[in-house]
Amino acid sequence: VFRNKLEFFAAAKVSSSFPPPTIPEIAFAGRSNVGKSSLMNAITRQWGVVRTSDKPGLTQTINFFKLGPKLCLVDLPGYGFAYAKEEVKEAWEELVKEYVFTRTGLQRVCLLVDTKWGLKARDQELIDSMERSKTPYQIVLTKTDLVFPIDVARRAMQIQEDLKKNKSIVNPLMMVSSKSGAGICNLRTVLAKIARF
Ligand code: GDP
Repeated sequence: VFRNKLEFFAAAKVSSSFPPPTIPEIAFAGRSNVGKSSLMNAITRQWGVVRTSDKPGLTQTINFFKLGPKLCLVDLPGYGFAYAKEEVKEAWEELVKEYVFTRTGLQRVCLLVDTKWGLKARDQELIDSMERSKTPYQIVLTKTDLVFPIDVARRAMQIQEDLKKNKSIVNPLMMVSSKSGAGICNLRTVLAKIARF
């Protein structure tokens, strides 16, 4: 499935403009600058379709991309800029929560977490929403090339420990670097399985 061409097909600012849920979806979420666009580009090997953000916080839309006829990749707006207005943060939260709670066909949310910084309050809020809506998710640690391997392992252990209290559908944590390519193949393999159902 990851050999297919990635094509942008819809952007939504409100839930009423989500496209009809006809194929399985995998969504990508995380704080602004976590490396979400870079990762989506790396796993699809298509650079420039998902734009990397130089103006964080300005695009508060959910973007839908088709990856062939069987899978849709969804770019959720990045969150957590210190300088974003409170109304913007609230609008983001509402939109993402609505998406997570209502979206039929949503098979997995990849919650990206910067290896260096770990889980933050807003990540935890999204985790709580996904727990409540029983949305299957997995944590993907990003930018592992910027941290010593021992610290990557420590971060992974710490997050797994933090998430133990959830009785949930957390899937195994993964670790990637879009820059070095580490872990990208593994993630592709895991996600490709979702498209087969
Ligand atoms: P987004 O805001 O979450 O979409 O993040 P971007 O993909 O735009 O990346 C934010 C910044 O982090 C950019 O300067 C990227 O070049 C950088 N970046 C993204 N992934 C990696 C990575 O795996 N390693 C390193 N060293 N930098 C990365």
